[in-house]
Amino acid sequence: MAASAGPEIERLIALLSKLPGLGQRSARRTALALLKKREQLLIPLAEALALAAERVKTCTVCGSLDTTDPCAICADQSRDGALICVVEEVGALWAMERAAAFRGRYHVLGGLLSALDGVGPQALRVGSLVARAADQGVREVILALPATVDGQTTAHYVAERLAGAGVAVTMLARGVPVGGDLDWLDDGTIAQAMRARRPA
Ligand SMILES: [Zn+2]
Repeated sequence: MAASAGPEIERLIALLSKLPGLGQRSARRTALALLKKREQLLIPLAEALALAAERVKTCTVCGSLDTTDPCAICADQSRDGALICVVEEVGALWAMERAAAFRGRYHVLGGLLSALDGVGPQALRVGSLVARAADQGVREVILALPATVDGQTTAHYVAERLAGAGVAVTMLARGVPVGGDLDWLDDGTIAQAMRARRPA
């Protein structure tokens, strides 16, 4: 990179380029946009970042992020403690909450097993899930993991670890998406939807 900017700006660009989806080029554009909108963007963003760094923590029960520990979902007595939905990351938990179709609790694994990336079981929060599942009140653990090779490998591993916990272990159905036209779907999705068919 041309050393045309000062060290403060270079550092800002270097940090921004580490964000998901931002390469060097987009990091430079982002840095410039921030610096040009000092009052509207740069200062409020700096304050929001500082506040998040100071207040947001990982929930020691489910692994989600919130300003309280236990998080608001774990502390919410109106949610069904008999159901635990297992997700890969907090982003998946947010997606599930946006869908507003689940009123139980969550467990964030913190990743997926991956032989390629060298991620083993010890890197994931499986032990604490097994401990939670063994709790008297838990009836069902729902594995809401990605429909990828790593996602399915992880789902099978977690299901095996839960085998002795005395809970039902279920997985999300796979098939035709809402608003989906069969003509546009890949063969794997159509085959899954056919296998997972149910009475009309
Ligand atoms: Zn929690």
